[in-house]
Amino acid sequence: MAAFATQAGELSGRWAAAELPRLMASQTPPQDVAPADVQWTTRGERRVVAGGDDELWLALSAQTAVWQTCQRCLQPFERPLAVDARVRFVRDEAQAEVLDAELEEDVLALPRWLDLRELVEDELLLALPLVPRHERCPRPLPLPAADLPGEAAEAEQRPNPFAVLRALKDGKATKAD
Ligand SMILES: [Zn+2]
Repeated sequence: MAAFATQAGELSGRWAAAELPRLMASQTPPQDVAPADVQWTTRGERRVVAGGDDELWLALSAQTAVWQTCQRCLQPFERPLAVDARVRFVRDEAQAEVLDAELEEDVLALPRWLDLRELVEDELLLALPLVPRHERCPRPLPLPAADLPGEAAEAEQRPNPFAVLRALKDGKATKAD
């Protein structure tokens, strides 16, 4: 791992969804639909610090798509998921703990061998929305395209309940304006 950073190594590849079992387990795809592959790249970096130890960094990015269940309409839906993270590696756990609290980036103790797949999986899991929701839920009953009203048109068609009440109170039999 240290050598990878020192030599500014670069690696990239693609994993099948089944190779990231924790991410796979957090998905709810429809039957017979396979979750997407994960595409990733990583780059090591050694930063020379004047008067101090060199810093070892790893930049990683990964893209995939995940199936989750919309918490509004309870339908499974697929959305893109991408992470772009920078991780700093330090000598030991104690230093990692101190710096992790200070820095915005993730700080980990330098492992001899880095399990990159686990690290990427951790980052993707952290990026999953806690309450997955469609931006706009599909309509529960499909209507013929010509009948699909826009949101504004729909709002106009629905009488305002307060206007209706007011009309009743005023003793008007006509519809509210
Ligand atoms: Zn929905």
